[in-house]
Amino acid sequence: MESSLKPMDAEQLRENAHKMVDFIADYYKSLEEFPVLSQVKPGYLSELLPVSAPMQPESLQDILKDVQQQIIPGVTHWQSPNFFAYYPSNSSIAGFLGEMLSASFNIVGFSWITSPAATELEVVVLDWVAKMLKLPDQFHSSGLGGGVIQGTASEAILVSLLAARDKILRKDGNEYLSKLTVYASDQTHSALKKACQIAGIYPANFRILKAEQNSSYALAPEALAEAISTDLSSGFIPFFLCATVGTTSSAAVDPLSALGKIAKANNLWFHIDAAYAGNACICPEYRYYIDGVEEADSFGMNAHKWLLTNFDCSLLWVKNRSALIQSLSTNPEFLKNKASQENRVIDFKDWQIPLGRRFRSLKLWMVMRMYGQENLQNYIRNHISLAKKFEQHVLSDSRFEVVAPQAFSLVCFRLIPPPNHHENSDTLNYSLMNSTNSSGKIFLSHTVLSGMFVLRLAVGAPLTEERHINEAWKVLQDQATTLLGSF
Ligand SMILES: *Cc1c(COP(=O)(O)O)cnc(C)c1O
Repeated sequence: MESSLKPMDAEQLRENAHKMVDFIADYYKSLEEFPVLSQVKPGYLSELLPVSAPMQPESLQDILKDVQQQIIPGVTHWQSPNFFAYYPSNSSIAGFLGEMLSASFNIVGFSWITSPAATELEVVVLDWVAKMLKLPDQFHSSGLGGGVIQGTASEAILVSLLAARDKILRKDGNEYLSKLTVYASDQTHSALKKACQIAGIYPANFRILKAEQNSSYALAPEALAEAISTDLSSGFIPFFLCATVGTTSSAAVDPLSALGKIAKANNLWFHIDAAYAGNACICPEYRYYIDGVEEADSFGMNAHKWLLTNFDCSLLWVKNRSALIQSLSTNPEFLKNKASQENRVIDFKDWQIPLGRRFRSLKLWMVMRMYGQENLQNYIRNHISLAKKFEQHVLSDSRFEVVAPQAFSLVCFRLIPPPNHHENSDTLNYSLMNSTNSSGKIFLSHTVLSGMFVLRLAVGAPLTEERHINEAWKVLQDQATTLLGSF
């Protein structure tokens, strides 16, 4: 049969895809049997696989056997209910079905004409989410702005930075590139540094301001105001501020209103990176975390992190779409068409780095429709309450301490070294993390806060329930007992 497998025969698709769906459902059923963090050694796979691609077709059955035996051992199971590392990357049935549909049409939606539904659905769904987040009207497509799906928060930051850079260079002249300065706190994601490198911002002009050390880890408005004023008096041109809602280390929240007012008064483009925590703001009781978003020029949030939409689906809204378009549009002859030439449509190729783009709005649309706003809100609430339960566990054991205020679904904590061993805090917690992760039972990651090695437990996998939180805590306690016993 396989030797006659055609590229896209409908009946063969049906048969093979059914088998694949069965395989995937079985995978999800047995998910908890695998070590969460893959335990393989670097290079493990090349020892198992042939050095050349097969000349003749192989059967799906044989391939799935290899997936089971060779690939899955090298997979870290992000969808496991025991995955607590980094921030989550959600999968869901609706997101999954949307991915399938997107793969089925397999369009390349750079311009409206290449599939009008792809562009128009994206506009509608981004307006829906903007409404759920109560973003100001200027971020909706009805005004001068609008939303667009990027691959990642890093791309969202980069395109915002490029729009801001070119806006100022159009006004001042390209020769001022060397004077442009960027502001963020030392808790800002490394994606901003990378964006500055790509955008040609002079490395010395990237102002990394020290976040407050009072465990809030927020950027103090006074620090920003002072840095801008120093730069202005030295002839620099401050042009970009990136604030974060839910930093990657400790889920810290920068004071958006105050920072935004300073940015506005000094003509800076103000970007808000809410990749993870922005998702929580669909709940009315957490919306206050993005109060001040009205001061922003752009706002980014990853639906693929914590809103049940399979990777990738990073949402970016801008107030002034023409700044993006002026920076990123091209108009080669081979793409010209009536609708675009007459300016009656959106061509999302002009809002992003690549030309080609997938039909990603389908999965977000399906998530919205198959779960509905209320379920999505409750989904977030449940994770936050599970994180609070974990925090209670940590607080109940005097051998541990919570290191930063519990925020969203993240808990930062550490094991306290025994008396007279305080210099060992970092090694002790490093060992705790490694022994826990190599047990395969749970996977969590770390950060450094105020120079101290800290463990992070981020709740957010779709299958995580209270029993997983309790079990995770028990694993950590047992590992701690063993480690402390060695002192
Ligand atoms: C996860 C995260 C990022 C990076 O996200 P990508 O989509 O992988 O680029 C950036 N900023 C924050 C605050 C994040 O939490």
